Amino acid sequence: CAVFGVFAPGEDVARMVCFGLQALQHRGQESAGIAVGDGETVVAAKDLGLVTQVFDEATLAALEGFVAVGHARYSTSGGAASWEAAQPHISAIDDVLIALAHNGTLVNTSRLRACLVDEGVQFRSNTDSEVAAKAIGQVTQATHHLRSGIRRAMEDLSGAYAMVLASPDSLYAFRDPNGIRPLCIGELPGGRGWVVSSETCGLDIVGARYVRDVAPGEIVRFNEDGMHAEQGVPAGRPAACIFEYVYFARPDSVIDGQSVYQARRSMGRILAQEAPVEADLVLGVPDSGVPPALGFAAESGIPYADGIVKNRYVGRTFIEPTQAMRQLGIRLKLNPLRSVIEGQRLVVIDDSIVRGNTSKKLVQMLRDAGAAEVHLRIVSPEVRWPCFYGIDTDTRDQLIAANMTLDEMNAWIGSDSLAFISLAGLRAAVPDARCQGFCDACFTGDYPVEIPSSVAKKSFM
Ligand code: 5GP
Ligand code: SF4
Ligand code: MG
Repeated sequence: CAVFGVFAPGEDVARMVCFGLQALQHRGQESAGIAVGDGETVVAAKDLGLVTQVFDEATLAALEGFVAVGHARYSTSGGAASWEAAQPHISAIDDVLIALAHNGTLVNTSRLRACLVDEGVQFRSNTDSEVAAKAIGQVTQATHHLRSGIRRAMEDLSGAYAMVLASPDSLYAFRDPNGIRPLCIGELPGGRGWVVSSETCGLDIVGARYVRDVAPGEIVRFNEDGMHAEQGVPAGRPAACIFEYVYFARPDSVIDGQSVYQARRSMGRILAQEAPVEADLVLGVPDSGVPPALGFAAESGIPYADGIVKNRYVGRTFIEPTQAMRQLGIRLKLNPLRSVIEGQRLVVIDDSIVRGNTSKKLVQMLRDAGAAEVHLRIVSPEVRWPCFYGIDTDTRDQLIAANMTLDEMNAWIGSDSLAFISLAGLRAAVPDARCQGFCDACFTGDYPVEIPSSVAKKSFM
C-alpha cells in the first residue's frame, strides 16, 4: 500500500495528497482515500478504484483543511477489495475524529480485535488496519493524549506498519520497531509545511525536500509548533524489506539513503557475474526488470534491446486478486517485439518468480515470436517462504521455488536455462551504508517478527 500525509496551513492539502498518492499508485490500485483535518474535525472521502477515478475536482474541493492523510490500497490482510476495507480508517475519541492510513500487515490483530469488540467497539471491515485505528482511538479515549494512545497501540501491535494519522490539527507518522515498510519525511520550501510519504517519489511530486526517514519505532508529530520526534517503542532488529529494492518501490525513489534504481542496476551486474550465458540480446521484463537488464548488459557486454513492450494502461498483474484474472492480466500487459527478437538468443531479466505463471507465459510468447533461445535470469533469490508483512505472497504450496528444484522449474517454465541471484549477491547490490539491516524472510524463512502459529499454519502448508 501507499501512505501519504501533509501538514501545511494555507495549502490545498487534499490536492497535495492526491498528487502524492498518484506518484505512489504503483503500491496499490484497489482503492484510494483522503482524510482532511480543519482544526475542528476530520472528514474523509474514499472509494474503490485508482486515485484519479476516486478524486475529481468536486470531491477534492469538499476536503478543506490544513492537515491530511491518504492511502492507496493493495489488499493483503482483510481479503479482496471492498469499500469498507478502503482507508483511511476513521476512529472517534469522544467526539473528536482521527484518520489512520497503514502500509504493511499486522500479524496479531485477531486477539486485539476480540478485546476491542468486548469493550463495545464496532468494526466496519475485517482488516488489521481498522483494528489499529480503533486501538489507538480506544487508548486515547482513556488517556486523552493522542501520542500516548499511539505509543500504547504500538506496544500492542506486532508486524509491519508504516502509518500516518491525522487528528483535527496535527499529523503523526510512525513506523514499526523493525522498520519493515519504508516511510520518509519531507519539508516544503519556505517553511510552508511538512510531508510524509511511503517513498521519496511522493515528496518530489509536491516539491518537498527529503529530510530523513522515520526511524524504526519512532513517532513523529507535525503541527503548528513544527516537527517533534520521540521514540514510541524501542527499535528492534533492523529489517527493512529488501523486496522494496527488487520490485515494489519506484526506481526514482531513495529508501533509507539508497537509490532503488542504482540497486537494481547493481543486481543485474552481479547476476551477470554469477550466472553468465552466451546470447545475442539482453531483455528486461518491464518495468522492474529493465534497470537490472541494463546492468546485466553493461557487465556482460551483450547489447540491451527493447524486446518486450508493456501496455502502460494495465496495472500490476500480481495485484489482481484471482488466479483467473491474473493469468489473463499477463497477456494483456506484455507483448514481445518480433522484429527485435526473431532468430535471437535472449537473456531475459525479471525481478522475481513467485508462482511462475508470468515466466511460463512470457517464455512461450517469446518463442512464439521467434526467439531462438530464452535464458531467464532473476534478480531475487528463490521465493520459498510467504511474506506476512505487506507484500503477502502466497502460501507455500503456491510458491514454485518451495516445491521444485531449479531444473524442475526450468523445465516447467520452458526456458533454456534459469538462474537466480544469490542472497549474498542481492545484499551486495544494496550496500546498506547505514547498516540498517534487511528482512529477507521470503528467501530464507528467517522472520524478523514472529508469526503467530494460527497465521503460520494456514500459509506454511
Ligand atoms: P508469478 O511468478 O507469480 O507469476 O509473478 C511474479 C511476477 O509478478 C514478478 O515478476 C513481479 O514483477 C510481479 N509482481 C507483482 N507484484 C508482486 C509482489 O508483490 N511480489 C513479487 N515478488 N512479485 C510481484
Ligand atoms: Fe519484504 Fe520478503 Fe520480508 Fe516480505 S518477507 S517484508 S517481501 S523481504
Ligand atoms: Mg514483473
